[in-house]
Amino acid sequence: MPEGSFHYCDVSLPVPLDRPFTYSLPETLRHRVKPGCRVIVPFGPRKMTGVTLRCHDDAPDVATRDALRLIDSEPVLDDELLALARWIANYYCAPLGEVLRTMLPLANEIRSGKVYSLTPAGLDAARQLLLDAGPEDPVASVLRMLEKHPLSASYLAKKLPLADKVIRSLERKGFIVVEHVRTERDPLRAASENLRIELESEPIEGRFPKAERELVAFLTLHPGSHNLKDLETQVRGSSAAARSLARKRIVTLTRESVAQASGPVRTRHALNPAQQAAFDPIHSAIESKQFRTFLLHGVTGSGKTEVYLNAIDSTLATGRGALLLVPEIALTPAMASQFFSRFGDRVSILHSAFTDNERADQWRRIRSGGSSVVVGTRSGVFAPVHNLGLIVVDEEHDQSYKQEETPRYNGRDVAIVRAQAAGACVVLGSATPSLESRYNVERAKYTLLELPERIERRPMPTVELIDMREEFLETRKQSTFSRRLLEAIGQRLDTGEQVMLLLNRRGFSSFVACRACGERIQCRDCSVTLTYHRRDRRLLCHYCNYAERVPSVCPKCRSEHINFLGLGSEKVEEELHREFPRARIARLDRDTVTGKRQYEVILQGFRERNFDILVGTQMIAKGHDIPNVTLVGVVSADIGLGMPDFRAAERTFQLLTQVAGRAGRGDLPGIVLVQTINPDHYAIRMAAAQDYQAFYEKELNFRRMMHYPPFSAMANLLVRSEKQEDALRLSTDLGRFLTPAPEKIKIMGPAEAPVPRLKNEFRYQLLIKAASRVALNDLLRRARDFALDKKWNATALVIDVDPLTLM
Ligand code: ADP
Ligand code: ZN
Ligand code: ZN
Repeated sequence: MPEGSFHYCDVSLPVPLDRPFTYSLPETLRHRVKPGCRVIVPFGPRKMTGVTLRCHDDAPDVATRDALRLIDSEPVLDDELLALARWIANYYCAPLGEVLRTMLPLANEIRSGKVYSLTPAGLDAARQLLLDAGPEDPVASVLRMLEKHPLSASYLAKKLPLADKVIRSLERKGFIVVEHVRTERDPLRAASENLRIELESEPIEGRFPKAERELVAFLTLHPGSHNLKDLETQVRGSSAAARSLARKRIVTLTRESVAQASGPVRTRHALNPAQQAAFDPIHSAIESKQFRTFLLHGVTGSGKTEVYLNAIDSTLATGRGALLLVPEIALTPAMASQFFSRFGDRVSILHSAFTDNERADQWRRIRSGGSSVVVGTRSGVFAPVHNLGLIVVDEEHDQSYKQEETPRYNGRDVAIVRAQAAGACVVLGSATPSLESRYNVERAKYTLLELPERIERRPMPTVELIDMREEFLETRKQSTFSRRLLEAIGQRLDTGEQVMLLLNRRGFSSFVACRACGERIQCRDCSVTLTYHRRDRRLLCHYCNYAERVPSVCPKCRSEHINFLGLGSEKVEEELHREFPRARIARLDRDTVTGKRQYEVILQGFRERNFDILVGTQMIAKGHDIPNVTLVGVVSADIGLGMPDFRAAERTFQLLTQVAGRAGRGDLPGIVLVQTINPDHYAIRMAAAQDYQAFYEKELNFRRMMHYPPFSAMANLLVRSEKQEDALRLSTDLGRFLTPAPEKIKIMGPAEAPVPRLKNEFRYQLLIKAASRVALNDLLRRARDFALDKKWNATALVIDVDPLTLM
């Protein structure tokens, strides 16, 4: 037997059962499969792609099936990344197979399955049976479902426990026919493309297949252009339907490419003394090749990026590679071009806007050592950089580092674990460090480096609070803009300076209510009010994207007195047009930014002074460096403060500080006007004073008192089901099972989640605070085993460790 030839391999698969599965290796694969390689294996009736964890000769007690095919001749994950995957699976209590799938941008999926449809005889039988049978009859249920459209076997099995048996008998009777379908997709091979779709004309009357009708309906309700791939999740079969509609000239398809646009080329600066003082310890740590974590706390405009770039230089000089993580929205082509201009083709960019192919290309280049500097968003933390010496996490407090689906990891925290194993250095940078990170300085886990002043001693902007309650008392008018803000905007328009206006809520009116009966129009599938979007003339759910037409009468009492209440960014823009008819105004929010490039186009236009005023949501607050902005206005600082979330104050502080930091970054000083009805709230007061230290101490005290992070480890156990009684029962069962809480653990709930119904599911949650990580992990494991044991639906239990939102 040749060396390295084994009879079995253990494979991790993306399934809820968190254990490896053993397969036998046929002769042809025996000496080729290695740990870290992807293989295709049978799993039940399906084929799945998994990652090999181990090859061995320990014959298992049960019969094994043969692995089918080897995808990679060389491992795609090395030992270091496999170990990181194990750590994530353990810490976040997520199945290893799901973690591995997230780590590989190359995950290919092979689905093969059966699709059933009714024969004419079946249709007759269906109509007959529907008259006779009761609602519980499984045969009638299957027929009823198939009467509408063909369905896959896996869907039927999910919906009906006895579907398999029923189907076999229906097949024998000739009532249904089966078709075998097989789709195989591997981004490493298949050429996939990024297409944008937009409605060209309203379809003429006529018969269209269902998928096409649904797609047109969706596009009518959601005007603008959409990424076709993203649409798949909203409308099933939209890809094929889109192509057919394009041929009929009902929609247009355009290729989206995220080529490197030319942005402002960054001139290289010699570090100023403060930057140098921050850089020196980073430099020595990199040279010593030891794991260290630095927290670079630098006020907005203090030149953090220049420090990162120098640290990357030092890393490359030691022959090691570097990784820079940035928040999702910050990774623009302009930002990428700065890196290209500094490091040339040693740079790889990993961006979610890339096609699978482009991403796979970049990934392979990194893997082969072709690039030693990687810039990426959250999942970039898994880039297979050789000989990693440095990870920089820019805007470390940013929420987009947390993945809000399984595995629910935080990219920043994973970066630290990865660096530790690699003996690399970490630099976390922010003007508003998260409480957790800042507290780790006190616990001597991180080293604090500070840039307390702006570049070239430019002054920090002056911030004024405007009490909107007083404004109302004096003017007797409920207005969007205070007199002071209007006056300040007018002055800027006269002098040709630019203005940014923040309102962190998109849409026109945040809710629609009936004046007669008080009814607020809610989403069909969520317990949240719908937002009015005027340009589209639709009501839209911001949680699930459900849209409907604006009703002309109240759906409850038929009254015609429908009121549009609450302020959104779209309305701010409109009111500005009215106040300043000659001003050129642009808006930046998720409604105007439909493609990833549009964000950059709008910003670039503003940078080039094609607009006087930029209105937007938090999107305008992040990292932009536009020297001509001398006024930042916050239309309402209060949105977000009322959120039922212990991080509400921290988030408000961060947002206000960040947006204030956009003012006065050039030669002209800046001012910030903050409108609020809570001028005494500490988050608003201290953001106005731009006093991070004071906020940190106050907030830390509150957290200590309440045993919130960083003084406890927290987790959220979310239980969900389409039926309210099920969600309630399951969460009660789980609550009972977990109580009495073990030592060092406090369990709150089960209680209704702050959004009790979302995407047609009812939700209850158990919040857990633990004084010990080990105890918490142990408890979560028990919860997960309980759900598996009781055969809960795979999606019924969500485990969120270190949750960032509790909605
Ligand atoms: P931050 O990320 O801390 O908000 P940036 O890194 O964007 O700040 O730097 C702000 C501005 O200062 C940028 O335009 C940058 O080119 C410039 N800059 C950075 N370092 C220096 C320096 N040492 N001398 C002069 N200008 C600098
Ligand atoms: Zn009504
Ligand atoms: Zn909804």
